[in-house]
This record gives sequence, structure tokens and C-alpha cells, in this order.
Amino acid sequence: MKKESSWVKSTCAYCGVGCGIKSRINNNGQLDIKGDEEHPANKGKLCTKGLTLAETLINENRMLTPHILNKPVGWNEALDEAALQLQDVINHYGANAVAFYISGQLLTEDYYVINKLAKGFIGTANIDTNSRLCMSSAVAGHQRAFGEDCVAGCYDDLEAAEVVILTGSNLAWCHPVLFQRLKQAQKEHNTKIVVIDPRHTATCDIADLHLAITPGSDVALFNGLLSYLHNNNKFDQDYINAHTNNIEAALATALTQDTNVSQLTGISEEQLHTFYQLFANHPRTVTVYSQGVNQSVSGTDKVNAIINCHLATGRIGKLGATPFSITGQPNAMGGREVGGLATTLAAHLSFDRHDHWQLLSDFWQTDKLVTQPGLKAVDMFDAIAAGTIKAVWIIATNPAASLPNSNKINQALAQCPCVIVSDCVNDNDTLRHATIKLPAQGWSEKSGTVTNSERCISRQRRLLPTQGEAKPDWWIINQIANRMGFKDSFNYTNEAQIFAEHVALTSVNNHPNHTPRLLNLSGLSHLTEHDYDTLLPQQWPINGDGITHQRLFSDGVFPTKDGRACFIATPYHPLITQRSASYPLLLNTGRVRDQWHTMTRTGLAASLADHIQQPLISVHPTDANHYHINDNQLVTVTSHSGEAIFRVRITTDVSPKQTFIAIHWTQQNASTGSVCALIDEQCDPISGQPQYKATAIQLTPL
Ligand code: SF4
Repeated sequence: MKKESSWVKSTCAYCGVGCGIKSRINNNGQLDIKGDEEHPANKGKLCTKGLTLAETLINENRMLTPHILNKPVGWNEALDEAALQLQDVINHYGANAVAFYISGQLLTEDYYVINKLAKGFIGTANIDTNSRLCMSSAVAGHQRAFGEDCVAGCYDDLEAAEVVILTGSNLAWCHPVLFQRLKQAQKEHNTKIVVIDPRHTATCDIADLHLAITPGSDVALFNGLLSYLHNNNKFDQDYINAHTNNIEAALATALTQDTNVSQLTGISEEQLHTFYQLFANHPRTVTVYSQGVNQSVSGTDKVNAIINCHLATGRIGKLGATPFSITGQPNAMGGREVGGLATTLAAHLSFDRHDHWQLLSDFWQTDKLVTQPGLKAVDMFDAIAAGTIKAVWIIATNPAASLPNSNKINQALAQCPCVIVSDCVNDNDTLRHATIKLPAQGWSEKSGTVTNSERCISRQRRLLPTQGEAKPDWWIINQIANRMGFKDSFNYTNEAQIFAEHVALTSVNNHPNHTPRLLNLSGLSHLTEHDYDTLLPQQWPINGDGITHQRLFSDGVFPTKDGRACFIATPYHPLITQRSASYPLLLNTGRVRDQWHTMTRTGLAASLADHIQQPLISVHPTDANHYHINDNQLVTVTSHSGEAIFRVRITTDVSPKQTFIAIHWTQQNASTGSVCALIDEQCDPISGQPQYKATAIQLTPL
């Protein structure tokens, strides 16, 4: 019998709640997992996915060695070939002929190094992340309102609030531990909970009010709220005068559409009145928004319409009062901090500010730093399809299954001359197109940091030995950078050195005439490698004297040139879809409780499959009648982009003419097909985030 190891603290591999875990190797050589009672995010709680982390370690279908054209090779050969192919494309077609598509599954250190290589040394901003698909509208909305991409509040605010509004968020299934905290708070303090969602979800079980709005009408609803607050003297005029700009434009836009909010949103006057009164009469109000808001052609405006209402009432930076974006992936936030999106620079520096560009150029000591944003995810794959991008390096994500119009993505990758894929699995929809495969360490093997939705940086630690020849992502990137001639700037030997460089970059002051950036980790400047190893969860900003801040903007100062927040005029536009007589139904998508992304991990645990075993399409009884469809029957679902087969679940959870399919099942893991093959490529014009929530479809019974 083996001896048990001692408990090691780490972080859950899945969602943006960022729960702390404790893990040990038991005397059977297996991992034991339990919640970390001392972690501020979860205080010991874990959801089903967190509790089954040990069952979802990837032992089969594991990529154990590098491959070139599916032939196993040694690391040196694979790295030489990858660097050579990237350099060859750059030499012949320029830096913008290469692209990088990365992931919110990466650790902050991995994210930092690949972003530095692409934007700082190769000289292309064609580096985007799958976070584009889940929260880029929130990023754009925050930048417009606050001057920087910041989540102002913290999880404690949900417990301190009198009213919590959950809009476009099925918190019960997508962020279960936070939902448990909210449910407990409701029990103790009688918190009023409003759910705004076209679907009746599990989150509605605790709702005092469910507003099943017409899909895409969120802007009309919140413009209506702004008008109501104004008309009923509920504005905090002192706060508006002291700390904001542009209320006139936002209010004028809202007032022009307030007469018909009920008609625009499909919500009765009585329910609207109840909602508006709840908001107006409770200073401690938190509005949580997630993918239902972000994944829309008007996602950025939706975010700003929500923030407008909080600014107008001064409900930001205060206990139990904040707009609150909750993110999907475990480290989408860390990626945002190091500039993982094509539209941002590292450490919340901005393409719009020359002093920011100069600061970063000096810090990295490079003359290649890009000056313009690069292609966002959907545009990037269009450029691959068009042949203007000739080499792509995909890291820790599966775009062939998860991007809209996945058939087109597969065609684009099939014709791309150089597709480098770093992953820990050996086969998935994307890896089938790889010309070079690089085995990466997976969760439990890798070490670094992640940031959760309340700006809390936590360590992920090594729990198990690495399988095969897999390496940390940062190591692979560092090796390729070396081979491309950037040895002086890529000489990292461990993740602590990378984190220290990231900390140092956040600590450099920018233009003296501007309010400093909020992303400040200078209090961590003197961490030794031992300190990094033992680092406890830290919520940023962490200033020079080590003081952290649970809430941003408590002093009413925003990181804009004049220190003021900005109201944004958000004109309401009805939902843009391609609905027609041939495609009369609307398809909504989302997650289920016990699965994650394209199931490469959660699909391994039999107990997680018990909840929902196969891909289903939810159809309202009226539509089932119309199409002569029975419960459990198979149907072909067709859209402008593609078709796939799903089993029908007849339910009143969806409204007539609306349907729902979960995102997890793909061409590879279900014979029926991928929902992303159906999704049209309509994107928010500001954020570039695709509209996953409103695809026009037709049903044909089989
Ligand atoms: Fe993991 Fe999210 Fe569940 Fe927490 S709520 S255990 S982070 S999946």
C-alpha cells in the first residue's frame, strides 16, 4: 500500500468562480479532492464538476509525444520544425500571415508569454482567444464606461445585496458554487432575486420574479429602467455630477424608447413595474450578467445599458451595489490581464494610448511592438479560409467544434498549410487538422496562476507527475521563441519568473496626466520563488504597501483621463436574425450543469453523464404539435450554416418559436453532430463576440 501524500492547495479546472481545492494522492495512488475552506471564492464548497475532478484526468487519448504529420518525433525536431514553418511564412508573407488562437484554459504565465511573442516580437496582433466567445462584450462595455476592463464588485456583494438581478446567466448550472452562496444569502436575508432570461432555467427556482424577455430585448429593458429611474427622481444626482460624463446622451436615447418597453420586451406592464420598483427602491442592488448578455450582436450595448443604470444611481464601488460580469472560463480574467485578446495590450495597456504603447515597447525592449489591434476570432478564421493567414498556432482550445459555422472552420483549417496545435489530448475536432502536434501538460500537472471573476489570483499547483513527454505551455512557447531568434527576451526557466515580469509590468506608471491603471500588482513585486510557490489567493489591485481592494471605484475615481466614468447612449435595435418562413424558429444555446466546453474532460466521468446523457433540443409543445414531433423523437435541425440531428425534449422551459441546445456535444463526441455547425457568424460590431443565442432554424422530423 502506498503512503498518502499531504494535501496540496490548487484551483478547480473549470469555471470562472475559481474555487479553491485541496488535493492529495491517496494510498491507492488516486487523487482525493475536497474544497478549500480557506479559499475566499468557495469557502470549502465544490459543485459536481469540482468534486469529480479526479475522475476527469486525461489518461486515455492523451498526447504523449510531439508529432509532425501524425508521425511521432522528438521535441527538438518538432520545435525546430514549428519555428521554421512560422518563420518561413513571416519571411514570405509578413508577420500578419501568422495567427495564434489561444484559450481561457491557459494559465496567466502561458498567456503572458504567447502574447509577448506575438505582439511584441513577431509583430502581429493576430492573436485572439476563445474568451472572445464568452466575455469580449463585457470587456468592451467596461472599457467604454470605466476606461479599463474591470469587474468592480466581489462575490461578497451578492450576499450583501438586497436585490440581485441575474440577466443572461443560468447561475445555478454555470456557476454553481456562487449560486449556492446566493441561495444561502437569500435564506438568511430574504434577498429579492430577479432572473431575466427568455428560458425558464434552474436559476428560476430561487427567483422572486422571472422576466422571460423577448430574445435580444435587454437594451430596451434597461433603457426603460433608466427612464423609470429618471422619471421617478431616483437618480443620484450628486454622484452623477461628481463622477460621470455623458448622462444627457444616454438618457435622451432611453427616453425616446420608453413608451413601448412592454411591447419591445414581451414583459407585462405589471411585471415591468415590479422589476423597476425593486431596482429603484433598493440601494444595495447587484446586476450579474453573463453569456446571455454578451453573446449577441448588441452585447456591448447591453452591458453599457446595465452599467448606465448603476452609474445613474451611484450603485458601484459600494457594499452590495455593483454591476457584475461573471465570466465562463477558469482564467478568462487572467488572459484579459495580460492582453490575450487581439484588441488589447498586456497589463490593461491600450492600443488607443501612445504612452501605453511606448511604455510596453520600452518594458519589453522591442522595436516590433504592434500598433494596431489584430483580427478577432471569427475574422481570423475567415482570413485562414481566404488564405491570407497561412500559419496558425492553436493552444488549449478546440475551435473546429466551438466557433460558429464550424463546418467552415473545419474547411479553413483543412486547407491551411501550417496548423500547429498544443494540447494535452491526442485527438479532437481541431487536432485532426494539425500538421504539428505539441503535447502540453494538463490540469493537475501544470503550475501557475489563474484569476477568477472577482479579480482573485490563485495558484494552480502540480498535483501529479506529468504524463509522457508533455511540457508546460510557457516552456513550449519559450522554446519556439528561442528558435525564432528572440533568446534574449525569452529566457524563462520557471513560471515564477514570468509572473514576476507580469507583476513588474503592472507596476510601471503610465502618463502622469492620466488616472493610473487599476491593474496594479506592485504589492507582489518582491515575491521570491518560494513566496510564489506558497502564494495565497490575492485580489487585485494590490498596491505597493500590499493593501488589496475588494471593490473598485469606491472613491468614485475611474481610470479615464479625467477620472470620470462615462454613460454610453445605447439605442435599442430589434434582434438581428435570419429568421424567415424557411427558418421560422429561434435557436438559443448554453451549458448544462455537469459538462464543460466540448467534453474532452467532463465526458470522461460516468457520473457527470448521468445528469443529461445526450444532446437534446428543447421544443415548446405548440411547436412540437405543429411539426408532429413526439418527445424523444429525432429531428434534423437546419440553419443557414449547416445541419445536425438532435433528440427532442418537449418542454415549456422555452417559449413558442424558441428552442435550446447545449453546446457540449460535437461531431466527435456525438454521432448526431455539433450545434456550432448551425450557428451563423453574426458578431457584435464593437466586441466581435458571436451571437450564439439567436440562430434561425428549421426542424424536420426523422
Ligand atoms: Fe469548479 Fe466552477 Fe464548480 Fe467551483 S463552481 S467547483 S470553479 S466548476
